[in-house]
Amino acid sequence: MNTHFEPFIRHIAKLPGLGPRSAQRLLFHLLLNKSQNLNPLISTLQNLHDNAHSCSRCHNLAFHPPSEHEPLCSICLNTQRDNTLLCIVEHVPDLWAMENAGEFHGLYYVLGGALSTIDGIGPHDTHLGKLTHHISLYPKLSEIIIATSMTANGQTTAHYIAHLLKEFPHISLSRIAPGVPMGGELDYLDSGTLNAALASRTPFSLTSVK
Ligand SMILES: [Zn+2]
Repeated sequence: MNTHFEPFIRHIAKLPGLGPRSAQRLLFHLLLNKSQNLNPLISTLQNLHDNAHSCSRCHNLAFHPPSEHEPLCSICLNTQRDNTLLCIVEHVPDLWAMENAGEFHGLYYVLGGALSTIDGIGPHDTHLGKLTHHISLYPKLSEIIIATSMTANGQTTAHYIAHLLKEFPHISLSRIAPGVPMGGELDYLDSGTLNAALASRTPFSLTSVK
């Protein structure tokens, strides 16, 4: 392999689901027809680089041209969303899985990870610190659905959230659980399983079974 092509292979091979062999195939595919394959990809990536940001409110991905305003995602901008319901997820792909499943029409908050003692991930390494501020933006909220994963870390995070939200006693807490396999990450679930887990969510509190 020519050394000039190695940086591309190295970068692409680091991407999820790809390795050196697929990176090499991709390289040939892009270079053998630059006008059809490579050029549109370059402008698409440049567009994403310039305009894709983290939503300043819920931490979903937002597509927002650079401006003085804080970037908001399409969900936070949509006034038709049900502002009595809020769903807390670990990662953006979990939010997108919920959206694709189609049954949830409320608001979201993306934590950016789950608490983990083993990996040394504390509340300050996630967006947990801004959660109560986010909730205070929506005075009509009546239920918060904790949709962190069914892993030990996801459960620890759910309990931490329940502790944080004691200052909002008028908001009920629930947990999507039944139907989600232990260790299950939301974005690996099919829409039917996800919607069933949402429909059969159960009340959650600090005393809920760990
Ligand atoms: Zn948002």
